Amino acid sequence: MTGVGFASVHAATVVGLTGHLLQVEADVTDGLPGLHLMGLAETSTWEARDRVRAAVVNSGLAWPESRATVNVLPAGLPKRGSAGDLAIAVALLAASGAVPAAGLARWVLLGELGLDGTVRPVRGVLPMIRAAVAAGLSRVVVPEGNAGEAAQVPGVTVVPVRDLARLAGWLRAGELEGHARSSPPAGWRPSGSPVDLADVAGNPAARRALEIAAAGGHHLFLRAPYGSPAAMLAERLPTILPPLEEEAAREVSEIYSVAGHLDSDQPAVTQPPLVSPHHTSTPAAIFGALRPGTVSLAHRGVLFMEDAAEFPSTVLHGLRHPLEAGEVVISRGDATIRYPARFALVLASPPCPCETPSCACTPVARRRYLARLAGPLDRVEIRTRVERPSRAEFLSGVPGESSAAVAERVAAARERAAARLAGTPWSTNAEIPLLELRTVFRTAPGALDPLDDALNAGVLSTGSYVRVLRVAWTITDLRGADLPGRDDIREALALWRGDWP
Ligand SMILES: [Zn+2]
Repeated sequence: MTGVGFASVHAATVVGLTGHLLQVEADVTDGLPGLHLMGLAETSTWEARDRVRAAVVNSGLAWPESRATVNVLPAGLPKRGSAGDLAIAVALLAASGAVPAAGLARWVLLGELGLDGTVRPVRGVLPMIRAAVAAGLSRVVVPEGNAGEAAQVPGVTVVPVRDLARLAGWLRAGELEGHARSSPPAGWRPSGSPVDLADVAGNPAARRALEIAAAGGHHLFLRAPYGSPAAMLAERLPTILPPLEEEAAREVSEIYSVAGHLDSDQPAVTQPPLVSPHHTSTPAAIFGALRPGTVSLAHRGVLFMEDAAEFPSTVLHGLRHPLEAGEVVISRGDATIRYPARFALVLASPPCPCETPSCACTPVARRRYLARLAGPLDRVEIRTRVERPSRAEFLSGVPGESSAAVAERVAAARERAAARLAGTPWSTNAEIPLLELRTVFRTAPGALDPLDDALNAGVLSTGSYVRVLRVAWTITDLRGADLPGRDDIREALALWRGDWP
């Protein structure tokens, strides 16, 4: 038998990347049995009601035998998804006297319920818990699969839970807090075998281009004939980038939390991510919708597009906005959602569509193929060619320079740039606007002559002029000098043109 009563607990939801604290109130009164659930989006209401009822009954717990009303507040906030299931079930159990209601209001309960009463992981736990902490609530019950992620928020007491029956038992015994997980797990651990630049044979020019791109945060195009190790090279770019700074790691982890990509193996993201969408991915998967897309998963890291010319033109043109603004904007009926998307773009493409060693494509066919990339290529500062390693290089077994050695030079160059840019909104050369490049950051006398000549000859647009100058500064930082000289400008110009041998 169950009684009548009132109980209140907290849950949370996420809109875009922003967490919002919710209050879940349950009231059980005399009347015809039935559950009236208010405050959720319509379809979520039906689904939540069925899941909660089945989970309670299948956990061997008593379902209220009188009229039950649950209200999820605040009204007016779009509340989708299933993260509120656990709070709804516990509020109902507490209101009907099946578990004690006292002290429950201090807790935030997150989790989807399976029909058998298991508590399933949900997306967006990180921003949801940050919202709870901001509202003064620091005790959370989360699904076991979200516990590592939850523990990333400082000062939070995390109780991981596997199923509703167990949670009800702890609540009855008054020992919920005693099941808190004490030590937060370590940060990101790479899964699979580690990769290293030493694995890439030969290709000194492409390795140099990769190093410059890493040091300055520049976009890169790899002209990659059939059988060349372009993907190997691109996948090793994160291994020479510095780890994410605290604020960036927090921001990227939130994106991964909302996308549902954090788990006990990877409860936080601390290294620059590399994301490599397939050319058959839908625009919604790439740019995001209700959850962040590929371009946002690449935020503060690398977006690698292999076989770039095979992507649909909606995707290639759609890259323009994130490349310019560093974010994507998704308009939905009830909200405008912004996801950050500031990434280093690495495009790789064979020079022609046939991708065979015995290519017989005409020059026109080749030009037309790469012309598909015109939009994003216009933003790319560095173009290089990746070669198939020669048989001798391949068989020599001599490893290339290691990622650690290259990363050290990249870090030193980035420090020089950061010191020069101290007090500005920018931290890498790729971010410096035209005006400042021409006025604040001067070059050695006469150094700009090759660039001015190219501009006057109509070879360079003013936009490209700026891109070459940014890369020249990165080359200067890499050699530890104070001012770009003529050689730095020449190398940057050659990289912009893609003067592959
Ligand atoms: Zn061909």
